[in-house]
Amino acid sequence: MSVGGLIHLPVTTLSYQRFRPLMGEAYAEVEAASARATELFAGRVVWHVNSTARGGGVAELLQSLLGYSRGAGVDARWAAVEAASPFFEVTKRIHNRLHGSPGDGGELGAPEREIYEETLRESARELARTVRPRDVVFCHDPQTAGLVPPVLETGATVVWRCHVGIDLPNEIARDTWAFLREYVKPAHAYVFSRREYGWEGLPENKTWIVPPSIDAFSPKNQELAPKVIEAIIARAGLGPSRDGAAATFERADGSPGRVDRAAEVDQEAPIPAQAPLLAQVSRWDRLKDPCGVLRGFAEHCESPDAHLLLAGPSVAAVSDDPEGAEVLERVRELRRGLEPDVRARVHLACLPMDDIQENAAIVNAIQRRAQVVVQKSIAEGFGLTVAEAMWKARPVIASRAGGIQDQIVDGVTGVMLEDPLDLEGFGRACEELLGDRERADEIGAAARAWVIERFLGSRHLIQYLRLLDELLSGRASSRAGP
Ligand code: UDP
Repeated sequence: MSVGGLIHLPVTTLSYQRFRPLMGEAYAEVEAASARATELFAGRVVWHVNSTARGGGVAELLQSLLGYSRGAGVDARWAAVEAASPFFEVTKRIHNRLHGSPGDGGELGAPEREIYEETLRESARELARTVRPRDVVFCHDPQTAGLVPPVLETGATVVWRCHVGIDLPNEIARDTWAFLREYVKPAHAYVFSRREYGWEGLPENKTWIVPPSIDAFSPKNQELAPKVIEAIIARAGLGPSRDGAAATFERADGSPGRVDRAAEVDQEAPIPAQAPLLAQVSRWDRLKDPCGVLRGFAEHCESPDAHLLLAGPSVAAVSDDPEGAEVLERVRELRRGLEPDVRARVHLACLPMDDIQENAAIVNAIQRRAQVVVQKSIAEGFGLTVAEAMWKARPVIASRAGGIQDQIVDGVTGVMLEDPLDLEGFGRACEELLGDRERADEIGAAARAWVIERFLGSRHLIQYLRLLDELLSGRASSRAGP
């Protein structure tokens, strides 16, 4: 298979007017931003380049932000670099190391650089043929950092958007910055999700902070009636069977969708209809610590009726995550070793990825079916799953890691686990929240309000607009000369 080109991905145009009822008076700012965007981006294409069409937070974000940009009349386009497994092994190593973890323990030396650069060469050529000087190109994450210098040669405005980071960098993270820094340094701007994530050696005056956001109306987050939630859970193979005709959702383009595919599950029997449920939805990644969630629940959560569901994408489907199968196998092994009465309350689900919107509807139903959502990450860039569950007014128990700290105000908008490795504390927090309905509801309501105020896509796009307004005006005046 020849690899290394670009895969152009479809984007559904979305109407930003949907934000009006949610935002009240703040909506006026959205309208003003849309008018400014129409003016600023006339005759330009805004490209977003990343490394995968599905699986993980970045693909999720792009689908919706580009959709609303198109809704505001901006010619926003999405392309993914085409790559094979050696490239993804290197970039997964980079990803882990940027989180301060050695990952598979392998090197980042000359051979790895060669694999990395060789793969990006063809994508760079294709971009050079397509991108024009008036265009804007966002390169997302380490996978596309190597595209920054060649894309700059087209004369376009180039922004490197980094979605990962670490609160307190260690030597591993610093070495990895050194591996990537010369690629990204010449970009016109760098965008990080948190102030703490900015890199040493990148000029402050080109660094912008923009936290991520969720799309409140997508199949992942749209409202679902209780009977629809039950039907989707049943269709996925996770709940007692019932009429599957109700397992419906609205697709991004407004057309009707239905969940038809089941998840691949490890369970003794489906989750009983009335059972309190604790759920974590994440890629099968060791930094999401699914093993720790399972052990904390099994060993320290004394809620005898409660069930635990660990859900993630079907491992065959997420091409840029070679470690998924290994991590899943480890979780399966741990589950098999549980006492039978606990094992009967632990469910694993690999969600079908054939239709990404169907997958999203299942995630939506799981997060809504859960009484408590957990995100026990050891490291986390932002943690979209946290905002998604908060938007659904679910109380979330999550680790004090990365962007989770911007979402959870401990005891108010969620429950913060101070030490992600404290399994006992985790189990106790689960038990307490499952046993206190009133507190759970209170936290859930505060969580939803927090997300509306801070983490909707409208805020995200307005920040991008401000950044580009400044960059494009600045470049125009510097070209015009003194
Ligand atoms: N996700 C999904 N299907 C799955 C598992 C996860 O759509 O089977 C989504 C999840 O809902 C969230 C994203 O993948 O929108 C994960 O983003 P997050 O920031 O939590 O973590 P990342 O994967 O980017 O590290």
